[in-house]
Amino acid sequence: MPQSPGHAPQPIVSRHVAVIGAGAAGLVTARELRREGHSVVVFERGDQVGGLWVYTPNVESDPLGLDPTRTTVHSSLYHSLRTNLPRDSMGFSDYPFVAKDDPDRDPRLFPGHREVMMYLQDFAREFGIDELVRFETEVVHVRFVEEEEKWQIKSKQRHKETDDIFDAVVVCNGHYTQPLVSHVPGINKWPGKQMHSHNYRDPKPFQDQVVVLIGNSASAFDISRDLAGVAKEVHIAARTVQYETFGKQPAYDNLWLHPMIKNVCEDGSVHFQDGSFVIANIIIHCTGYKYHCPFLETNGFVIVDDNRVGPLYKHIFPPALAPWLSFVGIPFQVITFPMFELQSKWIAGVLSNRITLPSQEEMMEDVKAFYSSLEASGTPKRNTHALDDKQVKYNNWLAGQCGCPAYEDWRMEMYYATIKGRLAHLESYRDEWETQHLVLQAYKDFIKPASNQVSDGCVFP
Ligand code: FAD
Repeated sequence: MPQSPGHAPQPIVSRHVAVIGAGAAGLVTARELRREGHSVVVFERGDQVGGLWVYTPNVESDPLGLDPTRTTVHSSLYHSLRTNLPRDSMGFSDYPFVAKDDPDRDPRLFPGHREVMMYLQDFAREFGIDELVRFETEVVHVRFVEEEEKWQIKSKQRHKETDDIFDAVVVCNGHYTQPLVSHVPGINKWPGKQMHSHNYRDPKPFQDQVVVLIGNSASAFDISRDLAGVAKEVHIAARTVQYETFGKQPAYDNLWLHPMIKNVCEDGSVHFQDGSFVIANIIIHCTGYKYHCPFLETNGFVIVDDNRVGPLYKHIFPPALAPWLSFVGIPFQVITFPMFELQSKWIAGVLSNRITLPSQEEMMEDVKAFYSSLEASGTPKRNTHALDDKQVKYNNWLAGQCGCPAYEDWRMEMYYATIKGRLAHLESYRDEWETQHLVLQAYKDFIKPASNQVSDGCVFP
């Protein structure tokens, strides 16, 4: 029978745990849970592991991704996508993402998306995770059954529905599938087309078109460069600029960066806030995604409000349902895979009673204090889960809880070196990496014996 957190240490126990999703988060969560001695079932609606990194040329019937009846396509990858971080920084702590001596693989430091998928599939095979996954099985309803103090999961495989009972559920369903679309004044009468970057795959359909992209994220940057090769004109409308300056982009004769769109008109014009305008054929919203867990019933204990999933203790446990419900992968502006690993080690240790959580009240107080600190620093609610500079402290806190060594310095140095590299070589930062010593440092760590990498508290047979 599950125990409440905040009590005196309990005997080590094994739980029956459901993991929803077999992307990077679900895979490493399954591994950590199993290492800790739990029994695990992974539900995956796709037909292979890898999540977002499983590229598909398919797009959704509603290019804006707003129609709730559409069949969802999970991945948001475009054909040309390469990682935006060096591969070595992305890998799990004890399964490095190093180049393979294999002509079928992509050895680049910032490899294409297929290489990441293959890394994740290798990882799943290496640790026997495939055998825990129920493929083509979509979780349609998750609820806590009070009388049994267990979770009931209803899943659907083709037309067959199945109910299963678990002690705990870990949600790893990703958050780059449900488009967030910006409001453009006058859009209802504007005659052009609109789509979200979620449904962009390659530039061919945009031949000789005038395209306006909204947003200045990594996707907007990549897609604008992709399009500039075939479109007549490409215009990016950005709230702020990080690396570039407004105006015509130096390396192109058909790519401009503008301030945000003011409004659009019936004659096809798109007006920017600086008074300039263009007549455009299509607007692509590169405006991000929403957290979306349509299957989860929590009686209001977890809600999504303005992109804040909460209340969550340390972005993971809803205090009222801890530790029986948890989330891996909520924070963004992070190096994702190693953070997923630490989050899932913590969850696994808490579920087995090896690690003790504070009481529900203490966790709630911590969440409230965190929200107050965000307010005091003027951080908008929608950035509750943006970690960026705070990720080292966060990861080291998790590592401390788990008894693992501190987060490796070279990972964050690679993160910052990438930002610096983009400033110096905007168009070619992926191929002009100047800090080879960081790669060497990472390799030194990779070849250390396992006992040096992971402390006793962390290694399980
Ligand atoms: P996902 O990979 O999205 O996996 C979630 C899984 O859950 C999927 O397999 C899905 O099918 C399954 N699922 C969802 N709902 C259900 C359900 N109801 N029932 C059953 N299964 C379900 N990160 C980096 O570190 N480096 C990068 O270069 C990088 N580039 C990116 C580029 C783009 C365009 C985007 C959108 C993100 C990028 N990221 C990058 C971040 C990326 O999201 C993470 O690296 C990571 O892959 C997310 O893993 P995840 O497991 O949380 O989610």
